[in-house]
This record gives sequence, structure tokens and C-alpha cells, in this order.
Amino acid sequence: MQALTNRVKVVDRRPMSLMERMYLPAIFKGMLITFSHIFKKKPTINYPEQKRPFSPVFRGLQILNRDEEGRENCTACGLCAVACPAEAITMEAAERQPGEEHLYREEKYAAKYEINMLRCIFCGLCEEACPKDAIYMSETFTPADYQRKQFIYGKNDLLIPHPKEDPEAYKKALGNRAVNKA
Ligand code: SF4
Ligand code: SF4
Repeated sequence: MQALTNRVKVVDRRPMSLMERMYLPAIFKGMLITFSHIFKKKPTINYPEQKRPFSPVFRGLQILNRDEEGRENCTACGLCAVACPAEAITMEAAERQPGEEHLYREEKYAAKYEINMLRCIFCGLCEEACPKDAIYMSETFTPADYQRKQFIYGKNDLLIPHPKEDPEAYKKALGNRAVNKA
């Protein structure tokens, strides 16, 4: 039979010798490899108690940002949705009403903002497209779930905690990435 590549190996079909049938050399060889790893530095870590430092370019779950007053930055301009190659972002715009100035920074805001995390490829283009510093990729993983519909993240899932009402949670959600970016 003609070989398609030069990587073909002929299978050794000789009957096993007595030593091979005892499997002892193979067992000792395996144990030797196991013992040789006992004194080596462990490559594993005890997650979630221990966490590896993130790379500066790591892109995790999206966060919808607020300004220092706690007002939502997003103006529902749609640029992030247009930039998204996975078509993962949908939104509905609404107009800010008198008395809502403490909630939304600009006259228009996203009444509905959704990201389909099953579509998202974490490319970061939404963050780059945003002219309002309203969305950024955090250092948080998307939590696992059992149902597909749980991966449609709404505004409440994405919005950063209020900096005045919950400063600790705000700081934690902000993480190093947003701080370095600012
Ligand atoms: S990270 Fe990329 S794929 Fe995910 S929502 Fe943003 S633009 Fe779309
Ligand atoms: S997140 Fe940014 S780009 Fe997307 S709609 Fe809001 S303001 Fe526009």
C-alpha cells in the first residue's frame, strides 16, 4: 500500500517477552516518573483560594461603567453593537426624563442592554468602539451555568455597583484593568 506521508510506522506485532508480560519494568518506569515529580515545583494552584495574576491584556466579562457620581455612562449610541463581530449586543435607547439626571450622565441612555455570552468571543472591540468609557472588559470570568438563557446578560448583570452606595464592590469590579486604563 502506498504511504501518503513519511510518518508511517510499522506496528510491532511480536509476541511479548516474559519481562514484558510481567509488566514490572513498565510499572517501575511509571513510578519513577511519578516520584521524580514529587520534589518539583507544582504547576497547579488551589483555585479559587489562589488565583494567578492576570495578564495586562486579559479580557474577561464586560462591565457597564458609571461615572464617579454613580450615573450610567452609556448613551445607547450602538457603536459597540455595530463593532461586535459576533452580533452579541442588543440594546434599546430611552430618553432621560427630568429628575433622572442622577441616574444617567447624558440625555439618552440604554433602557435595555444585553450581551449574549454564548456568542461573545471576548475580542474587546466593544470596549474599543465605545466613545463614552461606558463598557470595558473586566478581570471577571463569566460564571458557568446549566441553562443557555442564563447566558443572556442584561443591564443589571453588567452594570458596575454604585461607587457611592457600595464603594467596596465598585472598587472590586473596577479591578486593575480599568484602573490602569483610566
Ligand atoms: S467582546 Fe467582542 S464579541 Fe464580545 S460583545 Fe464585545 S465586541 Fe462582541
Ligand atoms: S456601551 Fe458605549 S458604544 Fe455601546 S451603546 Fe453604550 S455608549 Fe455606545
